[in-house]
Amino acid sequence: SALVGLIGCVFAFWLSGRILRPVYEVLAGLKNVAEGNFSHKIPVTVGGELRRLIDGFNVMVDGLRHYRRETVRAREALEQRVNERTRELLNEKERAEAANRTKSEFLARMSHEIRTPMNGVRGMTELLLSSPLAETDRRYAQTIQDSGAALLNIFNDILDFSKIEAGRMELEHEPFCIRKLAEDVAGMLATTAQNKGLELALDVDPKIHNEVNGDIGRLRQVIINLVGNAIKFTEHGEVVLRINESEDPALRIDHRRFRIEVQDTGIGIANDKLDAIFDSFIQEDGSTTRRFGGTGLGLAISRQLVELMGAQLRVDSEAGKGSTC
Ligand code: ADP
Repeated sequence: SALVGLIGCVFAFWLSGRILRPVYEVLAGLKNVAEGNFSHKIPVTVGGELRRLIDGFNVMVDGLRHYRRETVRAREALEQRVNERTRELLNEKERAEAANRTKSEFLARMSHEIRTPMNGVRGMTELLLSSPLAETDRRYAQTIQDSGAALLNIFNDILDFSKIEAGRMELEHEPFCIRKLAEDVAGMLATTAQNKGLELALDVDPKIHNEVNGDIGRLRQVIINLVGNAIKFTEHGEVVLRINESEDPALRIDHRRFRIEVQDTGIGIANDKLDAIFDSFIQEDGSTTRRFGGTGLGLAISRQLVELMGAQLRVDSEAGKGSTC
């Protein structure tokens, strides 16, 4: 009976080795798979159910290897397509930028060329107007003078716009008095306001630092545009040009922050048009050109100039009640 017991033990040991070894191999294979190693296959040394388990495992490893190869291939193809498309887009962008630069340079050159003879026409008309003229001739000469001035304004706008588009607009840095600038602009536009029966008020905080360094010409251009618009689009009431020092997103001149506001009691701007009016050649609605004239370039230029000065040009408005720029 001891011999039978011994043989039984040896048999049990042999049998557990035959069953357990393949199971351990499958476990080791699964660990390899979990670590991303799909090349390890388990040799088939047993039969029956264990053989089917090992065959299934080997088929799974083959499948995973295949899918990984396909995924890598697809990713490489995708990367190549993305790279090609990026190259194409960059080329297209460069072509578009070059075309835009050429267009801006052409515009700048043309408006410059046209401005020179236009100045001659204006100068001569001025001389003509200062000479004794019959009433009708004076009216004709005055019309030429006004049309010339309007045309020159348009050319100046186009010239500025193309300079900004071509990235060639540079600001000056010179000392000036901001209060005097405001007074000059108000004086310049007072008659236009008066002719429409409007009051043009100046509200410059007495505490502001008057002497600053910056581009007086460009700042004057922005303020004239804003006050000019306010007068143009207001039929009754008043236009106020207000200046104070403020930390709120404001104009930085010479390390100081100014807030320049132009408030009117005019026709206002509909809420959904507030952003669009800063786009070039955009007016609030088609009838604006017929009623008030203009090119729709003024605010686009002013916004860019103000941004070059490190600030923002914004407008608050309510249709029918007035605007504040
Ligand atoms: P322009 O005055 O030459 O038409 P702008 O760029 O200066 O061009 O103005 C664009 C448009 O914005 C104007 O046509 C007008 O519709 C609107 N707008 C500008 N300022 C005012 C204002 N103060 N009140 C009402 N509408 C305004």
